[in-house]
Amino acid sequence: MCLFCKIINREIPSNIIAENDEFLAFHDINPKAPIHILAIPKLHVDSFNDTSPQMMAKMTSFIHDVTKEVNIETSGYRVITNIGDNGGQEVKHLHFHILGGAKLKWGHLSDVDPKGLI
Ligand code: AMP
Repeated sequence: MCLFCKIINREIPSNIIAENDEFLAFHDINPKAPIHILAIPKLHVDSFNDTSPQMMAKMTSFIHDVTKEVNIETSGYRVITNIGDNGGQEVKHLHFHILGGAKLKWGHLSDVDPKGLI
């Protein structure tokens, strides 16, 4: 069973923000911003590659609810999902990082210089 399935099953503790029948949101253990929450489906899905439009519609609504719960819906935030090796995905259970609570930085995301490649 994967790490996030164990969190869903309460075999591993987590700091839960929101939950419904299909989704769970909890604080990231290694926050990259003042607010760093992970939103996951309770159904094990490896990554964004394996989502359906129906799941994403419900996930979108759940993420909206989470941002309201922690009061970042008007101040702004970022939603990220990492996919596969090049995407930097460490946990192979679909999750959306919800980052906020401060002005977020935006910079080069790889060691490859993108200039001249386009
Ligand atoms: P990713 O690199 O996109 O797969 O992100 C995985 C995220 O899971 C990282 O931000 C980790 O800090 C976070 N993480 C790993 N273990 C736990 C845990 N037990 N509770 C909460 N977050 C975790």
